[in-house]
Amino acid sequence: MTSVPAQHALPSYLNAEDLGPWGVYLQQIDRVTPHLGSLSRWVETLKRPKRILTVDVPIERDDGTIAHYEGYRVQHNMSRGPGKGGVRFHQDVTLSEVMALSAWMTVKNAAVNVPYGGAKGGIRVDPKTLSRGELQRLTRRYTSEISLIIGPNKDIPAPDVNTNEQVMAWMMDSYAMIEGNLSTGVVTGKPISLGGSLGRREATGRGVFVVGREAAAKRGVAIEGARVAVQGFGNVGGVAATMFAEAGAEVIAVQDHTGTIVHQGGLDVALLHKFVAETGGVANFPGAEQTIGRDGFWDIESDILIPAALEQQITAANAPRIRTKIILEGANGPTTPEADDILTDKDVLIVPDVLANAGGVTVSYFEWVQDFSSFFWTEDEINARLTRIMQDAFNAVWAVAQDKKVTLRTATFILACTRVLQAREVRGLYP
Ligand code: NAD
Repeated sequence: MTSVPAQHALPSYLNAEDLGPWGVYLQQIDRVTPHLGSLSRWVETLKRPKRILTVDVPIERDDGTIAHYEGYRVQHNMSRGPGKGGVRFHQDVTLSEVMALSAWMTVKNAAVNVPYGGAKGGIRVDPKTLSRGELQRLTRRYTSEISLIIGPNKDIPAPDVNTNEQVMAWMMDSYAMIEGNLSTGVVTGKPISLGGSLGRREATGRGVFVVGREAAAKRGVAIEGARVAVQGFGNVGGVAATMFAEAGAEVIAVQDHTGTIVHQGGLDVALLHKFVAETGGVANFPGAEQTIGRDGFWDIESDILIPAALEQQITAANAPRIRTKIILEGANGPTTPEADDILTDKDVLIVPDVLANAGGVTVSYFEWVQDFSSFFWTEDEINARLTRIMQDAFNAVWAVAQDKKVTLRTATFILACTRVLQAREVRGLYP
Protein backbone atom coordinates (compact mmCIF):
# COMPACT_ATOMS: atom_id res chain seq x y z
CA MET A 1 0.00 0.00 0.00
CA THR A 2 1.39 3.39 -1.00
CA SER A 3 -0.25 6.39 0.67
CA VAL A 4 -0.17 9.85 -0.82
CA PRO A 5 2.50 12.39 0.13
CA ALA A 6 0.67 15.38 1.70
CA GLN A 7 1.61 17.92 -0.97
CA HIS A 8 -0.24 16.20 -3.82
CA ALA A 9 -3.67 17.30 -4.94
CA LEU A 10 -5.22 14.07 -6.15
CA PRO A 11 -7.88 13.66 -8.81
CA SER A 12 -11.17 12.16 -7.65
CA TYR A 13 -10.59 8.81 -9.38
CA LEU A 14 -7.63 7.92 -7.12
CA ASN A 15 -7.74 6.47 -3.63
CA ALA A 16 -5.35 8.54 -1.49
CA GLU A 17 -5.00 5.65 0.98
CA ASP A 18 -3.79 3.21 -1.63
CA LEU A 19 -2.14 4.82 -4.62
CA GLY A 20 -0.32 1.71 -5.80
CA PRO A 21 2.41 2.19 -8.45
CA TRP A 22 1.23 5.75 -9.19
CA GLY A 23 2.22 6.68 -5.61
CA VAL A 24 5.72 5.32 -6.28
CA TYR A 25 5.97 7.45 -9.41
CA LEU A 26 4.80 10.59 -7.53
CA GLN A 27 7.56 10.06 -4.96
CA GLN A 28 10.12 9.76 -7.77
CA ILE A 29 8.89 13.07 -9.23
CA ASP A 30 9.22 14.71 -5.81
CA ARG A 31 12.86 13.62 -5.71
CA VAL A 32 13.66 15.16 -9.07
CA THR A 33 11.78 18.46 -8.61
CA PRO A 34 14.54 20.27 -6.63
CA HIS A 35 16.90 19.63 -9.56
CA LEU A 36 14.68 21.10 -12.28
CA GLY A 37 15.49 24.79 -11.73
CA SER A 38 13.03 27.15 -13.42
CA LEU A 39 11.39 24.22 -15.24
CA SER A 40 9.91 23.11 -11.89
CA ARG A 41 7.15 25.63 -12.65
CA TRP A 42 5.81 23.01 -15.09
CA VAL A 43 6.24 19.94 -12.88
CA GLU A 44 2.51 19.56 -12.11
CA THR A 45 2.12 18.57 -15.73
CA LEU A 46 4.02 15.36 -14.93
CA LYS A 47 1.76 14.57 -11.95
CA ARG A 48 -1.40 14.03 -13.95
CA PRO A 49 -1.92 12.09 -17.16
CA LYS A 50 -2.95 14.11 -20.19
CA ARG A 51 -5.69 11.65 -21.13
CA ILE A 52 -7.24 8.51 -19.62
CA LEU A 53 -9.61 6.27 -21.54
CA THR A 54 -11.46 3.50 -19.67
CA VAL A 55 -13.29 1.02 -21.87
CA ASP A 56 -15.64 -1.91 -21.41
CA VAL A 57 -14.47 -4.87 -23.48
CA PRO A 58 -17.27 -7.41 -23.96
CA ILE A 59 -16.66 -10.72 -25.76
CA GLU A 60 -18.67 -13.84 -26.45
CA ARG A 61 -17.00 -16.80 -24.72
CA ASP A 62 -16.73 -20.14 -26.51
CA ASP A 63 -19.57 -21.51 -24.33
CA GLY A 64 -21.96 -18.78 -25.55
CA THR A 65 -21.89 -16.60 -22.42
CA ILE A 66 -20.94 -12.91 -22.57
CA ALA A 67 -17.97 -11.74 -20.48
CA HIS A 68 -16.96 -8.12 -19.79
CA TYR A 69 -13.42 -6.94 -19.09
CA GLU A 70 -12.04 -3.60 -17.93
CA GLY A 71 -9.62 -1.96 -20.37
CA TYR A 72 -7.51 1.18 -20.28
CA ARG A 73 -5.34 3.38 -22.47
CA VAL A 74 -3.55 6.18 -20.65
CA GLN A 75 -1.62 8.92 -22.47
CA HIS A 76 0.54 10.49 -19.80
CA ASN A 77 2.43 13.15 -21.71
CA MET A 78 2.77 13.96 -25.41
CA SER A 79 4.93 17.07 -25.29
CA ARG A 80 7.80 15.41 -27.19
CA GLY A 81 5.83 13.31 -29.68
CA PRO A 82 3.02 10.77 -30.05
CA GLY A 83 2.24 8.42 -27.17
CA LYS A 84 4.22 5.20 -27.00
CA GLY A 85 3.94 2.27 -24.63
CA GLY A 86 2.87 -1.34 -24.31
CA VAL A 87 -0.38 -3.14 -23.64
CA ARG A 88 -0.58 -5.51 -20.67
CA PHE A 89 -3.08 -8.35 -20.24
CA HIS A 90 -3.09 -9.31 -16.56
CA GLN A 91 -5.71 -10.03 -13.91
CA ASP A 92 -4.14 -7.47 -11.53
CA VAL A 93 -4.13 -4.52 -13.97
CA THR A 94 -5.48 -1.35 -12.30
CA LEU A 95 -5.81 2.25 -13.41
CA SER A 96 -3.05 3.25 -10.96
CA GLU A 97 -0.73 0.70 -12.53
CA VAL A 98 -1.44 1.76 -16.12
CA MET A 99 -1.02 5.42 -15.12
CA ALA A 100 2.37 4.73 -13.53
CA LEU A 101 3.50 2.61 -16.47
CA SER A 102 2.46 5.38 -18.90
CA ALA A 103 4.40 7.97 -16.88
CA TRP A 104 7.51 5.77 -16.78
CA MET A 105 7.23 5.58 -20.59
CA THR A 106 7.33 9.39 -20.74
CA VAL A 107 10.53 9.35 -18.70
CA LYS A 108 12.06 6.40 -20.55
CA ASN A 109 11.43 7.79 -24.04
CA ALA A 110 12.98 11.09 -23.04
CA ALA A 111 15.91 9.33 -21.32
CA VAL A 112 16.98 7.59 -24.54
CA ASN A 113 15.84 10.64 -26.53
CA VAL A 114 13.41 8.92 -28.90
CA PRO A 115 10.74 11.35 -30.14
CA TYR A 116 7.78 9.99 -28.21
CA GLY A 117 5.57 10.87 -25.30
CA GLY A 118 4.48 8.23 -22.79
CA ALA A 119 1.41 5.99 -22.90
CA LYS A 120 0.34 2.55 -21.73
CA GLY A 121 -2.66 0.24 -22.00
CA GLY A 122 -4.03 -2.80 -20.30
CA ILE A 123 -6.91 -5.17 -19.84
CA ARG A 124 -7.79 -6.64 -16.46
CA VAL A 125 -7.88 -10.28 -17.56
CA ASP A 126 -5.96 -13.49 -17.00
CA PRO A 127 -5.31 -14.44 -20.63
CA LYS A 128 -4.43 -18.00 -19.58
CA THR A 129 -8.17 -18.51 -18.92
CA LEU A 130 -9.07 -17.66 -22.54
CA SER A 131 -8.98 -19.79 -25.67
CA ARG A 132 -7.07 -18.45 -28.69
CA GLY A 133 -10.34 -17.39 -30.30
CA GLU A 134 -11.48 -15.58 -27.15
CA LEU A 135 -8.11 -13.83 -26.89
CA GLN A 136 -8.40 -12.68 -30.49
CA ARG A 137 -11.93 -11.32 -29.94
CA LEU A 138 -10.81 -9.57 -26.76
CA THR A 139 -7.83 -7.96 -28.52
CA ARG A 140 -9.89 -6.82 -31.51
CA ARG A 141 -12.69 -5.36 -29.40
CA TYR A 142 -10.19 -3.55 -27.14
CA THR A 143 -8.41 -2.12 -30.22
CA SER A 144 -11.69 -0.95 -31.65
CA GLU A 145 -12.60 0.76 -28.35
CA ILE A 146 -9.27 2.61 -28.08
CA SER A 147 -9.03 3.33 -31.84
CA LEU A 148 -10.45 6.77 -31.00
CA ILE A 149 -7.12 7.83 -29.58
CA ILE A 150 -4.40 5.59 -31.11
CA GLY A 151 -2.77 5.89 -34.54
CA PRO A 152 0.68 6.03 -36.18
CA ASN A 153 0.96 9.76 -35.41
CA LYS A 154 -1.09 9.76 -32.19
CA ASP A 155 -0.22 6.83 -29.95
CA ILE A 156 1.54 3.60 -30.86
CA PRO A 157 0.98 0.52 -28.62
CA ALA A 158 3.45 -2.37 -28.30
CA PRO A 159 3.70 -5.68 -26.38
CA ASP A 160 4.07 -5.89 -22.61
CA VAL A 161 3.32 -8.64 -20.07
CA ASN A 162 1.24 -11.42 -21.68
CA THR A 163 0.97 -9.75 -25.09
CA ASN A 164 3.12 -10.72 -28.05
CA GLU A 165 3.62 -10.49 -31.82
CA GLN A 166 0.33 -12.24 -32.52
CA VAL A 167 -1.61 -9.81 -30.34
CA MET A 168 0.10 -6.91 -32.14
CA ALA A 169 -0.85 -8.44 -35.52
CA TRP A 170 -4.52 -8.60 -34.43
CA MET A 171 -4.34 -5.02 -33.15
CA MET A 172 -2.85 -3.78 -36.41
CA ASP A 173 -5.40 -5.67 -38.49
CA SER A 174 -8.33 -4.38 -36.41
CA TYR A 175 -7.11 -0.79 -36.71
CA ALA A 176 -6.51 -1.24 -40.46
CA MET A 177 -10.08 -2.54 -40.90
CA ILE A 178 -11.50 0.49 -39.07
CA GLU A 179 -9.30 3.00 -40.94
CA GLY A 180 -9.46 1.33 -44.34
CA ASN A 181 -5.71 1.44 -44.91
CA LEU A 182 -2.73 -0.74 -44.01
CA SER A 183 -1.45 1.35 -41.04
CA THR A 184 1.52 -0.84 -40.11
CA GLY A 185 2.89 2.02 -37.99
CA VAL A 186 -0.01 1.87 -35.50
CA VAL A 187 1.70 -0.75 -33.32
CA THR A 188 5.26 -2.02 -32.91
CA GLY A 189 6.50 -5.44 -31.88
CA LYS A 190 4.72 -6.90 -34.93
CA PRO A 191 5.72 -10.15 -36.68
CA ILE A 192 8.50 -9.67 -39.25
CA SER A 193 6.06 -10.69 -41.99
CA LEU A 194 3.90 -7.67 -41.14
CA GLY A 195 6.43 -4.83 -40.93
CA GLY A 196 8.03 -5.92 -37.68
CA SER A 197 11.69 -5.19 -37.06
CA LEU A 198 14.52 -7.66 -36.81
CA GLY A 199 15.92 -7.64 -33.29
CA ARG A 200 12.74 -6.25 -31.64
CA ARG A 201 11.94 -9.41 -29.68
CA GLU A 202 15.40 -9.47 -28.11
CA ALA A 203 15.78 -5.68 -27.82
CA THR A 204 14.77 -5.14 -24.19
CA GLY A 205 16.91 -7.99 -22.87
CA ARG A 206 19.79 -6.87 -25.10
CA GLY A 207 19.48 -3.33 -23.73
CA VAL A 208 19.54 -4.68 -20.16
CA PHE A 209 22.75 -6.50 -21.03
CA VAL A 210 24.36 -3.45 -22.68
CA VAL A 211 23.74 -1.14 -19.71
CA GLY A 212 24.67 -3.99 -17.37
CA ARG A 213 28.06 -4.25 -19.07
CA GLU A 214 28.58 -0.49 -18.69
CA ALA A 215 27.52 -0.54 -15.02
CA ALA A 216 29.76 -3.54 -14.32
CA ALA A 217 32.75 -1.71 -15.83
CA LYS A 218 32.06 1.30 -13.58
CA ARG A 219 31.73 -0.97 -10.54
CA GLY A 220 34.78 -3.08 -11.36
CA VAL A 221 32.73 -6.29 -11.77
CA ALA A 222 33.97 -8.64 -14.51
CA ILE A 223 31.09 -10.08 -16.59
CA GLU A 224 33.12 -13.26 -17.11
CA GLY A 225 32.28 -15.37 -14.07
CA ALA A 226 29.81 -12.85 -12.57
CA ARG A 227 26.98 -14.51 -10.62
CA VAL A 228 23.63 -13.40 -12.09
CA ALA A 229 20.19 -13.96 -10.52
CA VAL A 230 17.10 -13.31 -12.66
CA GLN A 231 13.46 -12.93 -11.60
CA GLY A 232 11.20 -13.47 -14.63
CA PHE A 233 12.23 -15.66 -17.54
CA GLY A 234 10.02 -14.16 -20.24
CA ASN A 235 10.86 -11.83 -23.06
CA VAL A 236 13.08 -9.57 -20.94
CA GLY A 237 14.59 -11.88 -18.30
CA GLY A 238 15.01 -14.81 -20.68
CA VAL A 239 16.95 -12.82 -23.27
CA ALA A 240 19.05 -10.97 -20.67
CA ALA A 241 19.95 -14.31 -19.05
CA THR A 242 21.02 -15.70 -22.43
CA MET A 243 23.20 -12.70 -23.23
CA PHE A 244 24.92 -12.72 -19.84
CA ALA A 245 25.52 -16.47 -20.11
CA GLU A 246 26.95 -16.06 -23.62
CA ALA A 247 29.30 -13.37 -22.28
CA GLY A 248 30.66 -15.84 -19.70
CA ALA A 249 28.55 -14.97 -16.65
CA GLU A 250 27.03 -17.71 -14.46
CA VAL A 251 23.23 -17.52 -14.23
CA ILE A 252 22.95 -19.01 -10.74
CA ALA A 253 19.23 -18.49 -10.00
CA VAL A 254 16.03 -18.01 -11.97
CA GLN A 255 12.56 -17.40 -10.59
CA ASP A 256 9.33 -17.28 -12.56
CA HIS A 257 5.64 -17.67 -11.67
CA THR A 258 6.07 -21.46 -11.39
CA GLY A 259 9.09 -21.63 -9.07
CA THR A 260 12.66 -20.73 -8.15
CA ILE A 261 15.65 -22.76 -9.30
CA VAL A 262 19.31 -22.49 -8.28
CA HIS A 263 22.62 -23.81 -9.57
CA GLN A 264 25.70 -22.22 -8.04
CA GLY A 265 27.85 -23.51 -10.92
CA GLY A 266 25.58 -21.80 -13.46
CA LEU A 267 22.35 -23.02 -15.07
CA ASP A 268 22.41 -24.12 -18.71
CA VAL A 269 20.32 -21.21 -20.01
CA ALA A 270 19.82 -22.64 -23.52
CA LEU A 271 18.48 -25.90 -22.07
CA LEU A 272 16.29 -23.95 -19.65
CA HIS A 273 14.71 -22.06 -22.56
CA LYS A 274 13.83 -25.37 -24.24
CA PHE A 275 12.39 -26.69 -20.98
CA VAL A 276 10.28 -23.56 -20.39
CA ALA A 277 8.98 -23.66 -23.99
CA GLU A 278 7.83 -27.24 -23.41
CA THR A 279 6.47 -27.00 -19.86
CA GLY A 280 5.51 -23.34 -19.42
CA GLY A 281 7.84 -22.58 -16.51
CA VAL A 282 11.17 -23.19 -14.77
CA ALA A 283 9.73 -25.43 -12.01
CA ASN A 284 11.13 -28.98 -12.03
CA PHE A 285 13.98 -28.13 -14.44
CA PRO A 286 16.22 -31.20 -14.24
CA GLY A 287 19.39 -29.08 -14.66
CA ALA A 288 18.83 -27.27 -11.35
CA GLU A 289 20.91 -28.06 -8.26
CA GLN A 290 18.04 -27.19 -5.97
CA THR A 291 14.55 -25.70 -5.94
CA ILE A 292 13.81 -23.17 -3.22
CA GLY A 293 10.76 -21.33 -1.88
CA ARG A 294 9.58 -18.10 -3.52
CA ASP A 295 10.88 -15.76 -0.83
CA GLY A 296 14.28 -17.48 -0.63
CA PHE A 297 15.18 -15.95 -4.01
CA TRP A 298 16.06 -12.66 -2.26
CA ASP A 299 18.63 -14.40 0.00
CA ILE A 300 20.77 -15.67 -2.88
CA GLU A 301 24.06 -13.81 -3.02
CA SER A 302 24.90 -12.54 -6.52
CA ASP A 303 26.97 -9.93 -8.35
CA ILE A 304 24.13 -8.85 -10.63
CA LEU A 305 20.42 -9.12 -9.80
CA ILE A 306 17.87 -8.65 -12.58
CA PRO A 307 14.23 -8.21 -11.56
CA ALA A 308 12.41 -8.81 -14.87
CA ALA A 309 8.89 -9.83 -13.83
CA LEU A 310 6.42 -7.41 -12.24
CA GLU A 311 6.48 -4.19 -10.20
CA GLN A 312 7.02 -3.68 -6.45
CA GLN A 313 9.04 -6.88 -5.97
CA ILE A 314 11.93 -5.29 -4.03
CA THR A 315 10.48 -3.61 -0.95
CA ALA A 316 11.55 -2.42 2.51
CA ALA A 317 10.76 -5.99 3.65
CA ASN A 318 13.29 -7.85 1.48
CA ALA A 319 15.82 -5.11 0.54
CA PRO A 320 17.85 -5.51 3.79
CA ARG A 321 18.45 -9.18 2.87
CA ILE A 322 19.61 -8.58 -0.68
CA ARG A 323 23.34 -9.16 -1.22
CA THR A 324 24.38 -8.04 -4.69
CA LYS A 325 26.54 -5.35 -6.33
CA ILE A 326 24.37 -4.25 -9.23
CA ILE A 327 20.61 -4.33 -9.84
CA LEU A 328 19.45 -4.05 -13.44
CA GLU A 329 15.75 -3.26 -13.50
CA GLY A 330 14.43 -5.20 -16.50
CA ALA A 331 10.86 -4.92 -15.16
CA ASN A 332 9.04 -1.64 -14.79
CA GLY A 333 8.83 -0.35 -11.23
CA PRO A 334 10.29 -3.40 -9.43
CA THR A 335 11.82 -1.37 -6.56
CA THR A 336 9.87 0.80 -4.10
CA PRO A 337 11.41 4.16 -3.05
CA GLU A 338 12.00 2.80 0.50
CA ALA A 339 13.89 -0.19 -0.90
CA ASP A 340 15.79 2.14 -3.22
CA ASP A 341 17.12 4.04 -0.18
CA ILE A 342 18.02 0.88 1.74
CA LEU A 343 19.96 -0.56 -1.20
CA THR A 344 21.69 2.74 -2.02
CA ASP A 345 22.86 2.91 1.61
CA LYS A 346 24.26 -0.60 1.13
CA ASP A 347 26.19 0.69 -1.90
CA VAL A 348 24.22 -1.35 -4.42
CA LEU A 349 24.31 0.27 -7.88
CA ILE A 350 20.75 0.33 -9.26
CA VAL A 351 20.32 0.90 -12.99
CA PRO A 352 16.68 2.05 -13.05
CA ASP A 353 13.93 0.64 -15.27
CA VAL A 354 13.54 3.91 -17.18
CA LEU A 355 17.08 3.41 -18.46
CA ALA A 356 17.78 -0.34 -18.17
CA ASN A 357 14.73 -1.59 -20.10
CA ALA A 358 14.60 1.19 -22.71
CA GLY A 359 16.05 -1.10 -25.39
CA GLY A 360 12.56 -2.32 -26.30
CA VAL A 361 11.13 1.07 -27.05
CA THR A 362 14.32 2.04 -28.86
CA VAL A 363 13.93 -0.78 -31.37
CA SER A 364 10.17 -0.07 -31.46
CA TYR A 365 11.20 3.39 -32.63
CA PHE A 366 13.39 1.78 -35.31
CA GLU A 367 10.42 -0.38 -36.36
CA TRP A 368 8.15 2.67 -36.66
CA VAL A 369 10.76 4.55 -38.73
CA GLN A 370 11.25 1.52 -40.99
CA ASP A 371 7.47 1.17 -41.47
CA PHE A 372 7.10 4.83 -42.47
CA SER A 373 9.88 4.59 -45.03
CA SER A 374 9.04 0.98 -46.07
CA PHE A 375 12.77 0.34 -46.01
CA PHE A 376 14.10 -2.30 -43.64
CA TRP A 377 17.46 -2.49 -41.92
CA THR A 378 19.65 -5.52 -41.24
CA GLU A 379 19.80 -7.04 -37.75
CA ASP A 380 23.44 -5.97 -37.41
CA GLU A 381 22.51 -2.35 -38.15
CA ILE A 382 19.70 -2.51 -35.61
CA ASN A 383 21.82 -4.05 -32.87
CA ALA A 384 24.69 -1.61 -33.47
CA ARG A 385 22.34 1.41 -33.32
CA LEU A 386 20.62 0.02 -30.22
CA THR A 387 23.95 -0.54 -28.47
CA ARG A 388 25.12 2.97 -29.27
CA ILE A 389 21.91 4.61 -27.99
CA MET A 390 21.93 2.58 -24.76
CA GLN A 391 25.62 3.27 -24.10
CA ASP A 392 25.20 7.00 -24.79
CA ALA A 393 22.14 7.18 -22.52
CA PHE A 394 23.94 5.30 -19.74
CA ASN A 395 26.98 7.58 -19.96
CA ALA A 396 24.85 10.75 -20.01
CA VAL A 397 22.97 9.55 -16.92
CA TRP A 398 26.21 8.54 -15.20
CA ALA A 399 27.63 12.04 -15.78
CA VAL A 400 24.52 13.70 -14.27
CA ALA A 401 24.66 11.32 -11.27
CA GLN A 402 28.31 12.21 -10.63
CA ASP A 403 27.71 15.92 -11.12
CA LYS A 404 24.63 16.18 -8.88
CA LYS A 405 25.65 13.40 -6.46
CA VAL A 406 22.36 11.55 -6.93
CA THR A 407 21.36 7.97 -7.73
CA LEU A 408 21.15 6.79 -11.33
CA ARG A 409 17.35 6.82 -10.97
CA THR A 410 17.19 10.46 -9.97
CA ALA A 411 19.81 11.30 -12.62
CA THR A 412 17.71 9.61 -15.32
CA PHE A 413 14.63 11.52 -14.12
CA ILE A 414 16.60 14.80 -14.15
CA LEU A 415 17.77 14.24 -17.72
CA ALA A 416 14.38 13.03 -18.96
CA CYS A 417 12.09 15.44 -17.11
CA THR A 418 14.25 18.35 -18.24
CA ARG A 419 13.76 17.28 -21.87
CA VAL A 420 10.00 16.82 -21.41
CA LEU A 421 9.48 20.12 -19.60
CA GLN A 422 11.67 22.05 -22.03
CA ALA A 423 9.38 20.82 -24.81
CA ARG A 424 6.34 21.71 -22.68
CA GLU A 425 7.70 25.20 -22.08
CA VAL A 426 8.55 26.06 -25.68
CA ARG A 427 5.19 24.73 -26.88
CA GLY A 428 3.41 26.77 -24.21
CA LEU A 429 -0.08 26.23 -22.88
CA TYR A 430 -2.99 26.06 -25.29
CA PRO A 431 -4.92 28.32 -25.70
P1 NAD B 1 6.68 -11.89 -20.13
O1 NAD B 1 5.22 -12.11 -20.00
O2 NAD B 1 7.39 -12.32 -21.37
O3 NAD B 1 7.45 -12.58 -18.90
C1 NAD B 1 7.12 -12.34 -17.57
C2 NAD B 1 7.92 -13.29 -16.71
O4 NAD B 1 7.68 -12.98 -15.33
C3 NAD B 1 7.54 -14.75 -16.88
O5 NAD B 1 8.70 -15.56 -16.83
C4 NAD B 1 6.67 -15.03 -15.66
O6 NAD B 1 6.70 -16.38 -15.27
C5 NAD B 1 7.34 -14.16 -14.64
N1 NAD B 1 6.49 -13.86 -13.49
C6 NAD B 1 5.18 -13.50 -13.49
N2 NAD B 1 4.73 -13.35 -12.25
C7 NAD B 1 5.77 -13.65 -11.43
C8 NAD B 1 5.93 -13.69 -10.03
N3 NAD B 1 4.92 -13.39 -9.21
N4 NAD B 1 7.15 -14.02 -9.54
C9 NAD B 1 8.17 -14.34 -10.33
N5 NAD B 1 8.08 -14.31 -11.68
C10 NAD B 1 6.89 -13.98 -12.22
O7 NAD B 1 6.88 -10.33 -19.84
P2 NAD B 1 8.09 -9.41 -20.30
O8 NAD B 1 7.74 -8.80 -21.61
O9 NAD B 1 9.38 -10.15 -20.14
O10 NAD B 1 8.00 -8.25 -19.20
C11 NAD B 1 8.58 -8.38 -17.91
C12 NAD B 1 8.73 -6.99 -17.32
O11 NAD B 1 9.54 -6.19 -18.19
C13 NAD B 1 7.44 -6.20 -17.12
O12 NAD B 1 7.58 -5.38 -15.98
C14 NAD B 1 7.39 -5.32 -18.36
O13 NAD B 1 6.60 -4.16 -18.15
C15 NAD B 1 8.84 -5.00 -18.52
N6 NAD B 1 9.21 -4.56 -19.85
C16 NAD B 1 9.00 -5.32 -20.96
C17 NAD B 1 9.41 -4.87 -22.21
C18 NAD B 1 9.28 -5.70 -23.45
O14 NAD B 1 9.76 -5.26 -24.50
N7 NAD B 1 8.69 -6.87 -23.39
C19 NAD B 1 10.02 -3.61 -22.33
C20 NAD B 1 10.23 -2.85 -21.18
C21 NAD B 1 9.83 -3.35 -19.96
